[in-house]
Amino acid sequence: MTFDRIEDLHRALDSGQTTCAALAEDSLRRAAAENPHLNALAEIFNDSARAHAAAVDERRARGDRRALDGVTLVIKDNMVYAGHAAGASSKILTGFVSPYSATAVQRVLDAGAVIIGRANSDEFAMGSSNETSAYGPVRNPLDPSRTPGGSSGGSAAAVAAGWVHAALGSDTGGSIRQPASFCGIFGAKPTYGRVSRYGLIAYASSFDQIGPFARSASDLARITEVLAGADEFDSTCSDRSVPSMTDSGQDPATLRFGYYQEVLDNPALDPELRAAFMAKMDALRTAGHHVEALRFDNLDALVPIYYILTTAEASANLARFDGVRYGYRAEGAKTLEELYRRSRSEGFGTEVQRRILLGTFVLRSGFFDAYYGKAQKARRAVQDATNADLAKVDLLISPTTPHTAFELGRETSDPTVMYLEDVFTVQAPIAGLPALSLPMGLHSNGLPMGLHLTAKAFDEPTLFRAAEYLSS
Ligand code: GLN
Repeated sequence: MTFDRIEDLHRALDSGQTTCAALAEDSLRRAAAENPHLNALAEIFNDSARAHAAAVDERRARGDRRALDGVTLVIKDNMVYAGHAAGASSKILTGFVSPYSATAVQRVLDAGAVIIGRANSDEFAMGSSNETSAYGPVRNPLDPSRTPGGSSGGSAAAVAAGWVHAALGSDTGGSIRQPASFCGIFGAKPTYGRVSRYGLIAYASSFDQIGPFARSASDLARITEVLAGADEFDSTCSDRSVPSMTDSGQDPATLRFGYYQEVLDNPALDPELRAAFMAKMDALRTAGHHVEALRFDNLDALVPIYYILTTAEASANLARFDGVRYGYRAEGAKTLEELYRRSRSEGFGTEVQRRILLGTFVLRSGFFDAYYGKAQKARRAVQDATNADLAKVDLLISPTTPHTAFELGRETSDPTVMYLEDVFTVQAPIAGLPALSLPMGLHSNGLPMGLHLTAKAFDEPTLFRAAEYLSS
């Protein structure tokens, strides 16, 4: 039994049509049967999923009903769940079992969600196609010769395939929104600081956010409400109160949308995607909304800013994987230095090594001001320009990606080609803003297209309300 909305699922639970145990069983069965084909999950958690589902049914029988009861979920392999392995889809974490749970994981469990397994992703969330994973690529359920996107490719694929109701992913430069777009589902990156990063294996700490994948905007809102809010274990997590994100019942009266002419003029943008987007803008105008063309002068600077800053942060964050404390350790090293070098050379994949080297380079004394310092200043300029635009409109709107899901193996030879995949999604995390992708119909090639929205900092209510409206 699959439901597009948690409220429908809850109606079925309330009427006794199904139980959390039955939903979990169905989900486990489908995942086990189809995962050999898609490779979306690194591991299926049969025992803990069954035990948790039974406990949720018991609690409900006592009259205690919660926001995510019966919602089957997978979590990306870079967030930890007590007593379970977490690998960041890397060989370097081989054998690591977490003694604790990420705050986001604990919150969804406490709200009644049932975690079915851990989802394959790009190694340490670095990639746009799920092809950097030590477990091998994930296949797109809509066309298995294509990528589901990345880095949260397994999370998106598991939802799109209908194995689970929703999923958790992480987004640093687009890793929730781009796979959501490639798989024809919904995915949101909350405002930086809205959701605790405690227990998220860090890639770039000033960008990383955990967020949901689902099959409706209202489910994104409901899950984000559960994830959001202060956490004593993450000092970057905001202690602002969490507003209701789910009261999206009525259509918003008039919304003000802004799009960047430079995005539409970008030579990488598929003409059909551009036409679909423009048709959407016309429809919004006809419906009485305000749609404005804005200018963004430095679109070409966004990807370089993102890659300089995130690789710098990654080079520091990944220094802890040394083969000594946990994870993969090279055999037979004679000195400590050799142990470090060999464990890291053998344990990290090519893309992760490239980023550690790049990040170390941009932070080197003598180059610091030219690269890292300059990129920090440019980040601030982008933040200021984006916030100024969001003072004029409620939401920035664009296609999520320049084109639809590409074939596996197509973009792996030149890393900079893959980096340009992120051109429309990096602005929101550079500016720390909440953003999401929702389906925008099918391309003539049969693949889904995505529509991207960015809202003001901490204005998730407007973001989700607009997405609900645009998808209804
Ligand atoms: N594709 C981007 C990258 O490779 C985004 C990754 C992410 O958001 N984790 O860094």
